[in-house]
Amino acid sequence: MNTAAPKYIFVTGGVTSSLGKGILCASLGRLLQAHGYRVSIVKLDPYINVDPGTLNPYEHGECYVTEDGAETDLDLGHYERFLNIRTSAKNNATTGQVYWEVIQRERRGDFLGKTVQVIPHITDEIKRRIYQLAPDGYDIIIIEIGGTVGDIESLPFIEALRQVKHEQGEGQVITLHLTLIPYLKTAEELKTKPTQHSVKELLQSGVQPEVLVCRTEKPLTQSIREKLALFCNVSPEAVIEAIDCDTIYEVPLRLQKEGLDRVTLRHLNLPARDTIDMEQWAHFVGRIKNPVREINIALIGKYTALPDAYKSIAEAFVHAGAHHETRVRLHYLASESLTDANADIRLHPFDALLIAPGFGDRGIEGKIAAARYGREQNIPMLGICLGMQCAVIEFARHVIGWEQAHSTEFEPMTPYPVIDLMESQKQITDKGGTMRLGAYECVLEPDSLLRRIYGKEAVRERHRHRFEFNNQYLDAFQQHGMRFSGRNPQTNLIEAVELPGHRWFVGVQFHPEYRSTVAEPHPLFIDFVRAAIEYAETKQAVGQSNAVEK
Ligand code: GLN
Repeated sequence: MNTAAPKYIFVTGGVTSSLGKGILCASLGRLLQAHGYRVSIVKLDPYINVDPGTLNPYEHGECYVTEDGAETDLDLGHYERFLNIRTSAKNNATTGQVYWEVIQRERRGDFLGKTVQVIPHITDEIKRRIYQLAPDGYDIIIIEIGGTVGDIESLPFIEALRQVKHEQGEGQVITLHLTLIPYLKTAEELKTKPTQHSVKELLQSGVQPEVLVCRTEKPLTQSIREKLALFCNVSPEAVIEAIDCDTIYEVPLRLQKEGLDRVTLRHLNLPARDTIDMEQWAHFVGRIKNPVREINIALIGKYTALPDAYKSIAEAFVHAGAHHETRVRLHYLASESLTDANADIRLHPFDALLIAPGFGDRGIEGKIAAARYGREQNIPMLGICLGMQCAVIEFARHVIGWEQAHSTEFEPMTPYPVIDLMESQKQITDKGGTMRLGAYECVLEPDSLLRRIYGKEAVRERHRHRFEFNNQYLDAFQQHGMRFSGRNPQTNLIEAVELPGHRWFVGVQFHPEYRSTVAEPHPLFIDFVRAAIEYAETKQAVGQSNAVEK
């Protein structure tokens, strides 16, 4: 294990938001791993929410859940997918958490009568969170500061960065500034001024970036690079072009060509390998870009206007698709618009259906209609969390014949509460951080589809829910042909269901998507995509139309 202090790379953003700081951090992390370094990444979020668990996905996209049950920013998903590492609560901090901690300490009297201030108390707490991964043996820790330089909310984080740089000394800490170089059509020119301004803004806070990573639609010319270097006080080779790519997975390869890994290591006084092995990665990207076939999968969900709400699911399909050299076209269908009457028109073109996770009753009946259609038409179907719960409700209503079956989340007085609140949840009133969260063991039934797919007797998967299958109804479901293929060995909670006579029908109470990475695509998604390919081929063989509206 490495006993030396880790080096730190801070990543800030300039000019606009949404430039892809998370992908930049994950890509750089992956390249540094290829040079033999142990890397982790921390996301600092300037918003005041304690965590994104209580945020509507339309605000910041998906809430990503770590093994230890932290509800975190979706960028942690990119870190895990690119680096094939496991993150934890230590990898994400928000202004809300920082203030919460400081105020609790103030109430305990820890500050001994002193005035509690942004500097040093808030910045000290930010630094504590920056340094808390240091004992874990990493060589390099990347710290992504959310938001854009100049935001009022990010000031304490930039100040903490300045202090860390000052404390750790020369060659220990560097700053990468991700910025936008807009192209003005009328002038037919790339413009550097916004970047000059955002670097000045950073300088006002006492931070000089060592490296500029420039998002651009057009290649940066040598003269633009020199101009940026001169005005922003960096060396020309530290001006890195980040041109728009077809897939986010291409970014590490592009940045490697630009020499980002080398210039970073040089500034950190760390040796770089002459050549690094990115062959597997390039092979993976090649499979994404040159698939041999295409399939269409419908994702039936509620947040369809913002695909980021289902980020990990979409990426798990990219990984599984690459495995099969198949482009998985994911179509986001609003569950609200689905009914038993239109299910056939809307769903028949698809090669598989994914019933998405979610909360609240908007669109529930549409998810139930989709689950019914998938079951009756023998279409490969995967229900995740709320998606599994909808498949269970649908089965109770139309196979067992309990028309009023429901989840007590949506119908507290239902005579058949087939999905019900866990006993441990009944007294809880606070919404934040109180669900069943994080990884739990799940034992797989012998001879089940899941056992075959995972090839293991037991797995650990991550959870994020309050409601559960109601075990009081186990016998009735089993008698009607539902199989309970996954259980929690400690609590006996049902974690997975399947239908043996069906082409491919799985419902899981957990979220397999959080664990899929480039290096280890998730077996459940791999097999689901395989089943969808097979189904698509069967349909083609009998000449059934496979056309999906683009
Ligand atoms: N709303 C459901 C529950 O709380 C499902 C949650 C989810 O899909 N993540 O149990």
